[in-house]
Amino acid sequence: GLEIRLAARPQGWPTRETFDVAEVPVPEPGPGQMLVRNLVMSVDPYMRGRMNAGKSYVAPFQVGSALDGGAVGQVVQSDAEGFAAGDFVLHSAGWRDYAVLDGRSATKVDPDIAPLNAYLYVLGMPGMTAYAGLVDVARQQEGDTVFVSGAAGAVGSLAGQIAKLRGAKRVIGSAGSAEKVRYLTEEIGFDAAFDYHDGPVAEQLAAAAPDGIDVYFDNVGGEHLEAAIGALNDFGRVAECGMISQYNNATPEPGPRNMFMLVSKRLRLEGFIVGDRMHVQDQFRADVGGWLRDGKISYRETVVDGLRSAPDAFLGLLRGENTGKMLVKIADP
Ligand code: NDP
Repeated sequence: GLEIRLAARPQGWPTRETFDVAEVPVPEPGPGQMLVRNLVMSVDPYMRGRMNAGKSYVAPFQVGSALDGGAVGQVVQSDAEGFAAGDFVLHSAGWRDYAVLDGRSATKVDPDIAPLNAYLYVLGMPGMTAYAGLVDVARQQEGDTVFVSGAAGAVGSLAGQIAKLRGAKRVIGSAGSAEKVRYLTEEIGFDAAFDYHDGPVAEQLAAAAPDGIDVYFDNVGGEHLEAAIGALNDFGRVAECGMISQYNNATPEPGPRNMFMLVSKRLRLEGFIVGDRMHVQDQFRADVGGWLRDGKISYRETVVDGLRSAPDAFLGLLRGENTGKMLVKIADP
């Protein structure tokens, strides 16, 4: 099978040279372990942080070793209690054809309940991030006006729809192309949206939200964050989910220049990591599961074919080539 390794730590933007594709023997599971053949894997923005040497909130990748990340695979053979050949499992040993896992590192998933890809997206980590950010971090209330950046991406497209379903008065999104803006307003119910390339974010946001915003779900940082701070009403709340506009900066950029507004408008900005918000997971599953069953939430995936193309999928994600979740199809069950 193949595995994708970190060839070198990128300075600034990663390239194809950041990755190595290596042919490796199928690993042998030991006692208590299972051999899993991967079917689909996720590429996520947080992986860019793990390519740097310093510790972020997840340990860095090692140069010369396989990358890892969320994946769904099928058990080939198993000595792990509770797992049998043919079972489907969610785990974090992506970026390779075959993985050896113990029972603690794998969770069984059921393709009859939801398509396998959904466990990496709408019912998985990105879905939970959107839900927890709105409900538990920003504490979105009925009647709030909500602004979401990165709105056509995996987390953002769900955050906007969830905000609307939870009674937002108005949901505004920003994204990187006219086609994404059309998707937001015509297909998934955003009240207004704009392409952040079309002019200053502060001006476009002011036009879309003449009465200001109450909640900002930040996926982007930088100019977007400054614009949102400027547009927030008194006692506004910001869920700091990510700042993808900064991840490829070789040197830090100056932050928002209007931070005094945190004081004058009594704003609350709170960063969060989804893994710390598991106390809302049952509520997430009940709400989002119900909305999916009722056809009230829709989601898109951008699926790149083949493990060899996983580096391109990751680079494409950073350039905005995805609508909804960027996934890599590795094999058929
Ligand atoms: P997305 O599906 O949103 O993909 C990333 C998107 O970022 C691209 O499609 C692109 O869309 C956009 N983008 C790239 N560069 C820029 C830029 N300079 N300015 C504005 N937008 C840009 O990824 P995810 O949904 O997986 O993640 C979204 C955010 O959430 C990220 O910041 C990520 O780090 C964060 N995150 C945080 C978690 C947490 O626990 N805190 C968990 C999961 C994700 P476009 O065409 O619009 O530019």
